[in-house]
Amino acid sequence: MEQSKMPSRLRKEVMESGDCTRCGLCVGLCPYIKTQHEHIAFIHDCSRVDGNCYRVCPRTQTNWVDLDRQVFGTERTDHGLGNYLEILYARSLNKEITRAGQYGGVVSTLAAYMVESGQSQGAVLTRGEDNGPPTPYLARNREEVLACAGSNYSASPSLSILNEGVFGGLEDLTTVGRPCQILALRKMQGLTDPSQHNLSARKVNFMIGLFCFWTLETEFYSFLQTKTEGERILRLDIPQNYLVATTEKGDVQVPIDELRAFVRPTCLRCFDPTAEFADVSVGSTENDPEWNTLVIRSFKGQEIVNRVCTTGLLETKPYPEERLPLLLSAVYKKKKRVLEELNQGKGYAYLNLNSDYAKGIEEGGTGL
Ligand SMILES: Cc1cc2nc3c(=O)[nH]c(=O)nc-3n(C[C@H](O)[C@H](O)[C@H](O)COP(=O)(O)OP(=O)(O)OC[C@H]3O[C@@H](n4cnc5c(N)ncnc54)[C@H](O)[C@@H]3O)c2cc1C
Repeated sequence: MEQSKMPSRLRKEVMESGDCTRCGLCVGLCPYIKTQHEHIAFIHDCSRVDGNCYRVCPRTQTNWVDLDRQVFGTERTDHGLGNYLEILYARSLNKEITRAGQYGGVVSTLAAYMVESGQSQGAVLTRGEDNGPPTPYLARNREEVLACAGSNYSASPSLSILNEGVFGGLEDLTTVGRPCQILALRKMQGLTDPSQHNLSARKVNFMIGLFCFWTLETEFYSFLQTKTEGERILRLDIPQNYLVATTEKGDVQVPIDELRAFVRPTCLRCFDPTAEFADVSVGSTENDPEWNTLVIRSFKGQEIVNRVCTTGLLETKPYPEERLPLLLSAVYKKKKRVLEELNQGKGYAYLNLNSDYAKGIEEGGTGL
């Protein structure tokens, strides 16, 4: 029998247990769920027996196999990276974007193209703030997309701004998100009950997913202030085993071990470090900061990337063969750890895999 999708279960199992990923998609679906900075909480009891807030949450029951069929029309053969058509290196050909972008500026190039060409009325992004947590941002033009370039390593609930835009009448929005955010959008797109309303994810016409192995608690920003002595932080990066905060007075390095206390526990239960359900996923290359790794997953993603390359805004080159085992090894390591944690009863058992998928993880990554 299907379990109830009660908002009170979302409150108890996800929010109060600390499992909330702060994707932000439930914010605005009803008047009872609000954000304060990066936190999401119920401000009032909800007695409904059924709610979309529960259904779309990336930490409530999620059937990975059904989602593959829903998004790509097929089950996967690659249990590490999921469904994809092509994996490439890519970078922007626009100097302004490469200067502003975290690495090759691929995400900003694609988002700016969608907005400037009129294919999307806006882009749901995350905008860094001086020395504090970033904020959700709905960019309506290229300048605004560029102002959001760069990585912020906390869990900004940026999908709340998608709801605001859609409920305010916008159509066709590009969305850039962490893997949990893309997962939430796909869960919402898959809802079939015709009486369901407020399905803002149906207005997303291009999903750009980010690689993400974990996010940090908001308190990380105060900690960083002590390291940078209050200097204005211009850029953050995590190139290897340390974080680099670039300030007007130079770079400050923080060893990764000092960040561990701020890693959000829910990220340790995340099964999807590469945004497997996005149209395209973008990450670093781990060895060349001028380029990005670009995973083209859907035919729509492929068509858009091809168009952007044809206009001369983006260039790609083959993904180096010797790098793939390194990427797969990191992904399988994470997925195996998550399955172990969940099997030991740590956290809410949200994942629903069939035996082929579970076996694929068990056997994957060996010999890499
Ligand atoms: C929390 C986090 C963890 C990451 N971990 C990894 C990792 O382990 N390995 C890896 O290869 N790559 C990781 N990335 C991705 C990487 O940092 C770059 O975002 C990616 O390579 C795209 O680079 P770019 O030059 O195209 O980005 P840009 O063109 O600079 O665009 C970056 C985009 O990221 C969005 N953004 C910034 N912060 C957030 C946030 N907190 N939540 C959602 N969106 C955000 C902005 O809106 C902007 O549109 C992570 C990103 C984030 C946000």
